[in-house]
Amino acid sequence: MINNEFYIQALEILADRRAKNKALEEKRRNEIAKAFPEYLLLEKQLAKTGHRLAMVILNKSKNALKEIKEIEKENLNIQDRINVILKKAGKNVDYLDSIYSCKKCQDTGIFNNKRCSCVEEIARNIAIQRLNESSPLNLSDFDSFKLEYYSEKRDLRLNMSARELMRQNLQMCRDFAFNFHVPMSKNGILMIGKTGLGKTHLSLAIAKIVIEKGYSVVYGSVPDFLRKIEKEHFSSSEADTIGVLNSCDLLILDDLGAEFDSQFYTAALYNIINSRLNKRLPVIANTNLTAVQLKDRYSDRIFSRLFSLEVLSFFGEDIRLKNH
Ligand SMILES: [Zn+2]
Repeated sequence: MINNEFYIQALEILADRRAKNKALEEKRRNEIAKAFPEYLLLEKQLAKTGHRLAMVILNKSKNALKEIKEIEKENLNIQDRINVILKKAGKNVDYLDSIYSCKKCQDTGIFNNKRCSCVEEIARNIAIQRLNESSPLNLSDFDSFKLEYYSEKRDLRLNMSARELMRQNLQMCRDFAFNFHVPMSKNGILMIGKTGLGKTHLSLAIAKIVIEKGYSVVYGSVPDFLRKIEKEHFSSSEADTIGVLNSCDLLILDDLGAEFDSQFYTAALYNIINSRLNKRLPVIANTNLTAVQLKDRYSDRIFSRLFSLEVLSFFGEDIRLKNH
């Protein structure tokens, strides 16, 4: 279920496509007619045979079958002559055919008496754009991720340096982004660590690649999403944030654990993560909480879902201080 307003916008986009395709058809026709004026004559003859065919069918005359065969033969003959012209012009035989952006519904938006999938897709993309409006998508990439901000000093708890750990994290995120597809066998990534260690940067870098690959990505903070969902749930709003979060190709949940602790929120959060993972649609979740804090905070079923994601720990000093 998607907001009605988005369907109305989708139909406007369809009307726009139809107008553009019509204009292109007209341009092609004029181009051929200008170079080969006999084309216009053939076009008129085609129209005439079409009219004659209609009359024969309407009148149901005795010789109908024979007449229909004759007209069809004539028709093919004219079409052949048009094809010769198109060949001379260096065009394919379908150059003057009607142009449709969606072959299924021929840009009417209706297929088999139902809304065509092209309308659903346009409406879904509008809904995703709307949800991402305030997100800093496209601002980060892997190339601007600076490993030199992380200490090379070996950390005894990690048994490696923060830089080494981040190099591994970076590689994991790159692999995830460049191999992204849906449905995906990987459930996604859980990024754990204090603020300012690059979780958001890496999630946005993944988002950028995945979007470039043509997939839909929704990015936002958990508190924001849950407030929206709650508002829609308790009002007669047509907006369907939960539907979009459940169906986009990649969902990136920032600030997990920063939301107000309520039963409604916890249920909504479980619903989103669980239904996505069941459909093999990946999730990336970022949290400032530690694994122990997550376990205290969430029920076992959410916790086990979260830890079915690949866990990346972020370690070190706040790199934002170094980031000028
Ligand atoms: Zn369609």
